[in-house]
Amino acid sequence: MADLAGPRLYGCYKCQNHVCCHDDIVSKAFQASRGRAFLFSHATNVVVGPKEDRHLITGLHTVADVHCCDCGEVLGWKYVKAYEELQKYKEGKFVLEKFKIVKVNW
Ligand SMILES: [Zn+2]
Repeated sequence: MADLAGPRLYGCYKCQNHVCCHDDIVSKAFQASRGRAFLFSHATNVVVGPKEDRHLITGLHTVADVHCCDCGEVLGWKYVKAYEELQKYKEGKFVLEKFKIVKVNW
């Protein structure tokens, strides 16, 4: 039974590569272009792409696409810098789209 006590993980929906942990969810209230997304305090086994400035609903942010390190699928993005004071808490955090991650080990 000890195996069932491990952390609840999320994996890439294509290759099941473990990319984040349920305990690291900061917010489930994010909206991505194709549906809901979760904000995570960190992610693992991902590759962060080049930075770019994007105008989002909540203002100007510097973001970078986040790719699965195994299959290269884009899973979401990382907030590198937020320019609005109220959005600063997102800096260094990851948004992963809900339909691109699957529950592993739950
Ligand atoms: Zn993958």
